[in-house]
Amino acid sequence: MSYSDYESVIGLEIHAQLSTKSKLFCSCSTEFGGADNENTCPICLGMPGTLPVVNALAIEYAIKIGLSLNCTVNHNSVFARKNYFYPDLSKGYQISQFEKPIAEKGEVQFYLNGERRKVGITRAHIEEDAGKSIHQGDSTLVNYNRSSVPLVEIVSDPVMTSPQEAAEYARTVRSILLYLGVCDGNLEEGSMRCDCNVSVRKKNEAELGTRTELKNINSFRFIEKAIQYEIERQIDLLESGDKVVQETRLYDSAKNKTLSMRSKEEAHDYRYFPDPDLLAIPAPSNLVKEIESKMPELPVEKAERFCKSYQVTSDDAFVLTQSREMAQYFEDVVSRCEEPRLAVSWVIVELLGKLNDSKLEISESPVGASALGDLLSLIKDGTISGKIAKTVFSTMYEKGGSALEIVESQGLKQISDDSALIQIIEEVIETNPDQVAQYKSGKEKVFGFFVGQVMKLTKGQANPAKVNDLLKEKLS
Ligand code: ADP
Ligand code: MG
Ligand code: ZN
Repeated sequence: MSYSDYESVIGLEIHAQLSTKSKLFCSCSTEFGGADNENTCPICLGMPGTLPVVNALAIEYAIKIGLSLNCTVNHNSVFARKNYFYPDLSKGYQISQFEKPIAEKGEVQFYLNGERRKVGITRAHIEEDAGKSIHQGDSTLVNYNRSSVPLVEIVSDPVMTSPQEAAEYARTVRSILLYLGVCDGNLEEGSMRCDCNVSVRKKNEAELGTRTELKNINSFRFIEKAIQYEIERQIDLLESGDKVVQETRLYDSAKNKTLSMRSKEEAHDYRYFPDPDLLAIPAPSNLVKEIESKMPELPVEKAERFCKSYQVTSDDAFVLTQSREMAQYFEDVVSRCEEPRLAVSWVIVELLGKLNDSKLEISESPVGASALGDLLSLIKDGTISGKIAKTVFSTMYEKGGSALEIVESQGLKQISDDSALIQIIEEVIETNPDQVAQYKSGKEKVFGFFVGQVMKLTKGQANPAKVNDLLKEKLS
């Protein structure tokens, strides 16, 4: 059997909880946590005779999402009732969108191993969340706090071909949502949930294979692992003459396996119909235009601008634009020291290295952007060497303080004064006659030895360029 005879096809459905304060059709709070059923009212519990009122901010957020995914925004999209029975859905139907979603036909771009990828977006629609069933022994309790919290479901085309691509796509969508400030992107608390649809087919086949849907995966690493497992499971099935059954599966991260949850064969008939209580969604073109004019710069655009204006490589630009906070930090450092090249390596290597070690986010960095910018200015104007700067940076990171204070109080200033350096160089030449003889007989490699000695005597504080020039002069 050969896995390489097959290709996999993946499509993702991402549910993003909109970060509005109140629910989609009532004024109940959307806050996570809270006592059971605390945030409920007759409207979000679906009592007969109540009337929903649309949360205008949720619509604005959904339009922002649609625009950021390069979708067409429909001006007259409608809410539809999706009818089914389940204890966590007290109305007996979920208000969602069916025929005309708020946004459709878009595209997301990102980089995968340095290569640019595009994934088509089928649609993005608004819907309300359901409550949560809690199973305890023989009984089941229901908490409706989440009932009617606004969500946008982003459905991709079935076009991704590897688990890595799917995970990167999901990361990109999350980063876009965070840039927009419309969703907190918290996978663990369920404010972003991913369903992964997976199928396999023989490489030359035109038709898509039968898919399974992996529900609610709550980390990017698990997206990758669950899809990988599922691809292999499906190929094994086909190779042993079996069929893939269309079904919903759960990923068990402890066992790294997917398990059947429910079969999809008796395809639900949800009997969608336009919700008579809610007519067209208010998204006239002037509103869409206004929202469009206020859209923030998104990760891909920002990365492109960084490449152009700061001569950053596309890999570095990608790292720097992963979050809005990171990009802002970088730009603040640059504007402080006007040394983009130094700023790139210091932010990516030194700062992110330390933040990773101490498990901090950039927003929690003990060294602020202007403090780092000031440190880099000291390198730029020759006050300290890059090497000394690393020591200073460690002190700033661990104990606080400004770069200049630390440099002055610890006497770390670079020695650039010719007469001071010449004195040391002469001392080195005098005490090492053998090496001088070697150098003069053509062994140029010994030059490094002299540089090293000068650095040692100056505790690394000698200006390296000056040392090179002066040494050459004195040795010739
Ligand atoms: P449903 O609403 O029943 O989940 P959709 O047709 O809306 O079904 O598809 C949902 C997701 O499944 C989409 O992201 C789509 O890209 C993906 N998908 C559909 N068919 C396949 C397939 N054969 N293989 C992989 N993914 C698929
Ligand atoms: Mg689905
Ligand atoms: Zn309510």
